[in-house]
Amino acid sequence: MAARKKTASGKVAAKTTRKTARKTTRKTARKTTHKTTPKKSLSAAEQLKEYQRKRDFGKTAEPSGASKSASTLASKTARKPSRSAAKNKLEFVIQKHAATQLHYDLRLEIDGVMKSWAVPKGPSADPGVKRLAMQVEDHPVEYNSFEGTIPSGEYGGGTVMLWDNGTYEIENPLEDDMNSAAHDQYERGELKINFHGKRIKGSYALVRTRGFGRSASKPSWLLIKHRDEDAHPESESSLTTKYVKSVTTNRTMDEI
Ligand code: MN
Repeated sequence: MAARKKTASGKVAAKTTRKTARKTTRKTARKTTHKTTPKKSLSAAEQLKEYQRKRDFGKTAEPSGASKSASTLASKTARKPSRSAAKNKLEFVIQKHAATQLHYDLRLEIDGVMKSWAVPKGPSADPGVKRLAMQVEDHPVEYNSFEGTIPSGEYGGGTVMLWDNGTYEIENPLEDDMNSAAHDQYERGELKINFHGKRIKGSYALVRTRGFGRSASKPSWLLIKHRDEDAHPESESSLTTKYVKSVTTNRTMDEI
């Protein structure tokens, strides 16, 4: 009886070990596949086609993103990490944009471009507030320093202010490299971000939703603050009300 029991528990233990081993193997395999399969991520040039198609660079002062595309093409490495990615930090920018409808553009550096979302109400530091973030076309990394006025009649016509910038990290990354972690969470539609901005700080979730928002071509997401030391109620302090000047030039929208 005792011997039988021992065998049974032994079997169970062996099964568990095998299961764990299989799991680990699968994880490793996925990681390897991920690194050697470039089809998952497009080159910066390919990602920026929509951005370039929508703009006339003879009329708008926005960056064309052409130099970046050329260098990326030359290297033939779609996933070549940028300088900030090598430091395990990626760049982000938030631009206040007085287009037909005022909104804040959140841009996150992923795969050599700025993945972009238009957030009508801007970011909130209140964990009880969900902010709609409508995904828009990828922007070039050079856009991170753009502040100015897009001529009316042109795509996105209106004033663009640099509202915040800095670096971000993916929380608890499964990958060794920060860009790969960001890429994977982006593909899964659930980013867990730690912002190191001057105005936006700490932990946020950016989650893809279904059938929400009016954009037909690109999905809608929600930007939600996590509870941490940087969280505070919207009623006590609103980020967009508190900060109304450029983070780099200290100008108001009217002064830009
Ligand atoms: Mn915009």
